[in-house]
Amino acid sequence: MTRKILIVEDTPAMARVQKHIALKAGYEVDIAESLAQTKELISKNSYFCAVVDFILPDAPSGEAVPCTVNADIPTIVMTGNIDKKTRDTVEKYPIIDYIIKENKQAYQYLEKQLHRLPRNENVKVLVVDDSKSTRRYICSLLVRHKYQIIEAQDGQEALKMLENSPDISVIITDNEMPNMNGDELCSEIRRLYSNDEKAIIGISGSDSLGLSSLFLKNGANDYLHKPFNSEEFYCRLSQNVDMLEQIATIKRQANTDYLTNLPNRRYFFEETSKSLKKIKNKQGSGALAMLDIDHFKVINDTHGHDVGDEVLKGLSICFSKYFKKYLVARLGGEEFAVYFANADKQEALKRLEGFRYFIEANSQEFSKEKIKFTISIGFADGPVYQIDELLKQADLKLYDAKESGRNKVVS
Ligand code: GH3
Ligand code: MG
Ligand code: MG
Ligand code: MG
Repeated sequence: MTRKILIVEDTPAMARVQKHIALKAGYEVDIAESLAQTKELISKNSYFCAVVDFILPDAPSGEAVPCTVNADIPTIVMTGNIDKKTRDTVEKYPIIDYIIKENKQAYQYLEKQLHRLPRNENVKVLVVDDSKSTRRYICSLLVRHKYQIIEAQDGQEALKMLENSPDISVIITDNEMPNMNGDELCSEIRRLYSNDEKAIIGISGSDSLGLSSLFLKNGANDYLHKPFNSEEFYCRLSQNVDMLEQIATIKRQANTDYLTNLPNRRYFFEETSKSLKKIKNKQGSGALAMLDIDHFKVINDTHGHDVGDEVLKGLSICFSKYFKKYLVARLGGEEFAVYFANADKQEALKRLEGFRYFIEANSQEFSKEKIKFTISIGFADGPVYQIDELLKQADLKLYDAKESGRNKVVS
């Protein structure tokens, strides 16, 4: 889905820069050069957000700001300077943010904000406070920045919400609440969830000096003293969400094979070990197949390493699609694996044979050079609950497949 942004700016050079930033962030862009044009565009289109210049030829005192705000368009205001009068006007309206144009990092900051807004739509925030009015205020701030919101009125209810919605990534919690205090809630959340998964921001109206450190020591990432202004709230919140996003990116990179984008060996070992542990408790059995391209070295030697890479990438796309329901990975080189957690053995073998045949018939489609190749597959199953042992058994079968002529499944 492309999101539409309205850029209100009368200086063409600045409008061009902002347009460039918005396009780069994936938006579709409309530009208005005046208040009159802004009104006309708003009447005909719906916008995901707007970037509004504070001073326009027909709007010398920020009149375009209420125009977009009242149309329920999340608005970022660009101002030349921020004197008292401008700040007062800007603060009167529920805008997303204001950016001072002369600031060196203004456009970098705008880019960040334009990236964050659509991202926030997927960020679930749990607001925990026994005061309904505080909850309402915090929720109104969150809605403006397009966050998803869940509310709880005390710690116990919060824990239930976390259990029911595992995708909550930020918890904003008051301290003084009945049943369970904020600091107790923090330590309970930290017992259950790591810092990589969830960020906690503590808030309190108490003037007690040790409260911020109490929160932090119990696992909160940040602390805000009530009453706080919206700017500080947004800064702390987005910093925490950015941090979670960065951790998720690093984790994804650490678990992904660089060439093929498939899960890598490390991820495969971690996940299959967890799964086998569960299966062992239920006395079930897991199954695993190792797949290896036949005579891959010849492809490299004849056509070059780049073509070999292309073949690996093409095979990987089709491999992950074919075994969508199962865990697949590139173990290394031209060696791949599929793990069947609870599949029936005959069903798994049928799928593997189907894939072997599919590759034999279509492999030439994976490279511009139309290179034909085949794969051999070794399969192991049974009550074996160590992943290295299961892999060893599948590897032996793979060896048998290679020895007995290749292009086959051996179980
Ligand atoms: P077999 O049928 O017995 O499996 O023979 P093979 O030639 O496929 O197996 P061998 O183990 O002799 O050679 C595997 C080759 O895969 C050697 C290595 O250079 C190549 N290879 C490993 N990783 C990559 C890679 O990332 N890209 C490319 N292009 N080649 C790779
Ligand atoms: Mg202007
Ligand atoms: Mg309270
Ligand atoms: Mg090979």
